[in-house]
Amino acid sequence: MSSIIQLLPDHVANQIAAGEVVQRPASIVKELLENAVDAGATEVKLVVKDAGKTLVQVIDNGKGMSVTDSRLCFERHATSKIRHAEDLFSLHTKGFRGEALASIAAVAHVEMKTRQEQDELGTHIVIEGSKFVSQDVAVLPKGTSFSIKNLFFNIPARRNFLKSDTVEFRHIVDEFERVALAHANIGFMLYHNGSEMFNLPGSNQRQRIVNIFGGRTNEKLVPVSESTEIVNIQGFVCKPEFAKKNRGEQFFFVNDRFIKSGYLHHAVMAAYEGLLKDGSQPGYFLYLDVPPNTIDINIHPTKTEIKFDDEHALYAILRSSIKHSLGQFNVAPVLDFER
Ligand code: ADP
Ligand code: MG
Repeated sequence: MSSIIQLLPDHVANQIAAGEVVQRPASIVKELLENAVDAGATEVKLVVKDAGKTLVQVIDNGKGMSVTDSRLCFERHATSKIRHAEDLFSLHTKGFRGEALASIAAVAHVEMKTRQEQDELGTHIVIEGSKFVSQDVAVLPKGTSFSIKNLFFNIPARRNFLKSDTVEFRHIVDEFERVALAHANIGFMLYHNGSEMFNLPGSNQRQRIVNIFGGRTNEKLVPVSESTEIVNIQGFVCKPEFAKKNRGEQFFFVNDRFIKSGYLHHAVMAAYEGLLKDGSQPGYFLYLDVPPNTIDINIHPTKTEIKFDDEHALYAILRSSIKHSLGQFNVAPVLDFER
């Protein structure tokens, strides 16, 4: 009998992988912003049209790419960030899977301009649905610009699945805020349909939070700081009297990466025990630094879930340090409890 198994061509494999990496315009925003951060940019500009359905553009002043790399970056599993499996345990970059650009280029029209500082001229590449359309030499500023147009042009079902501009733009702002909060030292700008939505100069954590969420946030913030062998915790929790009905401003960052964790959220809520009205939610901005070899972030392509070696210890440290901070700032129970 002849064999019936075949290796999928690259562009088909890329399109399948794209299903996991690129769910909506906001996924592209996340990947491109993280690449800009990994490239050492100090200024990053995000330009969006029609909630990303028409255009997502990210312009950075980072290290740029050589002519060879500017083609290679669109290959699947092409990355400059790790070389060996062991490197996964000492990660200091957002990226490492080498699949974002390959995935994006498989399901959209991509134009890239890039120049390294030491090169006189840069490279301008157009790639559509994994096919290289053109490559030119060009006079360009230092850094990299990616323009993504016609997202899901070759997957109509996905395109139709996109929500209203309001919903899709909200997702974009969420991703933008997460990266901007994780990297307060980098300047970030966001333009939507020609209007400036955010202009965040590089600063510190506290200033970045205030710049995003408004001047009145400043008085709500109680600093948290704890240093142990398994974790360093920095950041802020909000005074209980400012707790809200919905879970708006709750952020965990682990090694400068936004993550979701029901378990750590529970630890925070335990620290507020007796201080909150029933069902109300405190804001928090908590930055955890742990040795990279004690976590696994490779659970899902979007990397927003993490496995910790010692979850229980982390829980206890987080809870007690927040409790301590709330106590220190004299946040005594201000509420009347009816029991
Ligand atoms: P990963 O980030 O996991 O390495 P990507 O597909 O996102 O995978 O990017 C592939 C490679 O392209 C990166 O490893 C990096 O070398 C290069 N690259 C991507 N974006 C940029 C950028 N904005 N500036 C410089 N190099 C970049
Ligand atoms: Mg990447």
